[in-house]
Amino acid sequence: MRPAGVLLDMDGVIYRDDELVPGADALIRRLQEEHIPFLFCTNNTEKHPTEYRSKLEKIGIHVDASSIYSAAHATAEALASRHAQGNFFTLGTAGFKRVLREHGLDVAADGHGSIDGVVIGELRQLDYGLLCQAVNAVTAGTPLYGSNPDILIPSQEGSIIGCGAIAGMVAKAAGAAVHFFGKPALEMIESAAARLGVHCEGLLVIGDNLQTDIAMARAAGVPSILTLSGLTEQRDIERSPYKPDRVIDSVAKLREEPLEYWPTGIGNVRLG
Ligand SMILES: [Mg+2]
Repeated sequence: MRPAGVLLDMDGVIYRDDELVPGADALIRRLQEEHIPFLFCTNNTEKHPTEYRSKLEKIGIHVDASSIYSAAHATAEALASRHAQGNFFTLGTAGFKRVLREHGLDVAADGHGSIDGVVIGELRQLDYGLLCQAVNAVTAGTPLYGSNPDILIPSQEGSIIGCGAIAGMVAKAAGAAVHFFGKPALEMIESAAARLGVHCEGLLVIGDNLQTDIAMARAAGVPSILTLSGLTEQRDIERSPYKPDRVIDSVAKLREEPLEYWPTGIGNVRLG
């Protein structure tokens, strides 16, 4: 069965750091030529979609910024549905805050005053005073949200601390729980399906991360393909409770295959 839409993770699937995964550009051209709706679907909320579009452009992938769907969108849409025009004390990058504002939300620079929640995204700088304000607001009963649960993000300089670890620190200090909207949360795949205008069950998920990409696909009951071009090795699959339908070395494998051969069933891992 041909997928109604495809969700493609980026890091480890389309590129590694700033380098194209060979064949990824050909797959994207194919999806465009065959008019198969797709979204780049990333948990990383560091950059605004326009910045991701520029990054993709540099490696030969030409798409609109609207083709890029990050956990920032899933977070913004979920928060806007709970608190239209809400005011959120946000710790995150400029790109993350911009997405929240584009969804009609107010972004407070500190934890004082009336706020509807504390929101944590990716950070490259930490301010101890602001973290304490976040903890105090959450301790006082303000809900705590995180864009994604990723603890570490691989980079050329070694791993860097992800949103999940920072939000986890605030949650631990406040003795509260944090609600994440990025993969593997169902909010992410449901809002991505809505963006594409297709039913969630018609989606195919392609990713390199068992705990996020594949876990989300399994939770939603949709087929998934794991690529070994990123952070997962073959031996990790046996140990994981989240099994993909198919495992391939990289998306180069999907450049020319008839799409009807893409997986339609759940539970039987196919290699190659
Ligand atoms: Mg990835």
